[in-house]
Amino acid sequence: MSASSLEQLEAIYNQPFFKLIDDARATMRKHWPEDEMQLCTLLSIKTGGCSEDCAYCSQSGRSKVGLKPGPLMNTEDVMKVARLAKAEGSTRFCMGAAWKGVKETDKKFQSVLETIRAVSELGMEVCVTLGQISEDAAHQLKDAGVTAYNHNLDTSEEYYSEIITTHTYKDRLETIQNVQAAGMSVCCGGIIGMGETVTDRLKMLEVLTKFNPAPESVPINCLVPIEGTRLNEMLPEPPMIDILELVRLIATTRIALPTSKVRLSAGRRRLTKEGQTLCFLAGANSIFIGDRLLTTDNADAKDDAKLLSELNISPLAPVLSQPA
Ligand code: SF4
Repeated sequence: MSASSLEQLEAIYNQPFFKLIDDARATMRKHWPEDEMQLCTLLSIKTGGCSEDCAYCSQSGRSKVGLKPGPLMNTEDVMKVARLAKAEGSTRFCMGAAWKGVKETDKKFQSVLETIRAVSELGMEVCVTLGQISEDAAHQLKDAGVTAYNHNLDTSEEYYSEIITTHTYKDRLETIQNVQAAGMSVCCGGIIGMGETVTDRLKMLEVLTKFNPAPESVPINCLVPIEGTRLNEMLPEPPMIDILELVRLIATTRIALPTSKVRLSAGRRRLTKEGQTLCFLAGANSIFIGDRLLTTDNADAKDDAKLLSELNISPLAPVLSQPA
């Protein structure tokens, strides 16, 4: 069954839990090695001072977190981190910059292109998240060696305006279209735990299932509450993510987007090893490793290595060729 309507996604999500896991496992077996996990490293190459108002983000210049904005990292400093990431087992290197988007003529963009060219020589997949981009910028990024462009939808279109007002859902979809038009893979997912409903989560998934081609990877982030963010004012005491709701969402994503990597992303540190194992069982086959995720702590690297060893999971090989 092709699961691309909200009704179909709800039917999948709400089926008996063990049946849902069975179906997700069957999908996993059909499309992916069962005992392999993509290991990614995420580096903030330009931190803080962002003009956007994403309610969850400590890097928004409008938040009261007090994060000191930093300059754009130079190529050599990024390369030191990228080489270390490769040595520690990462097969994908992701770079994020805190700004609204890029202008092709901007010196900063040219500097990022130079960094991408250098990182792409290391034999890892290269992903960047630079905000809104034009089709021309997307072509330049692809030519420089980017394998995937991350641009998250975050949530449903209906809930989106509660979270972000400085750019629209349509803006996001336009950037994704530009990325696809340039022939780059799309990495696109969302965040749960921001006060949205299960329906909002499934509506976001519904949009993702309409992408053509399907997203190459789908990050599922759990909110990491940060004091001083607008979301922290909206939800002063955000409830812990219900692990079974998270597992249901991951299993539903696995079934609805069988060829996409499903990345258990931010917030993994707050999950027990049993909770993470359930997420992997449900079809998550990608994680970030390393101590930091942009501005928040990630799961402990030693704990990750131990858990993957206990589960007999080895790294998924990088896919370096880009879509035609
Ligand atoms: S999520 Fe990105 S665009 Fe939004 S405020 Fe943070 S850095 Fe800026």
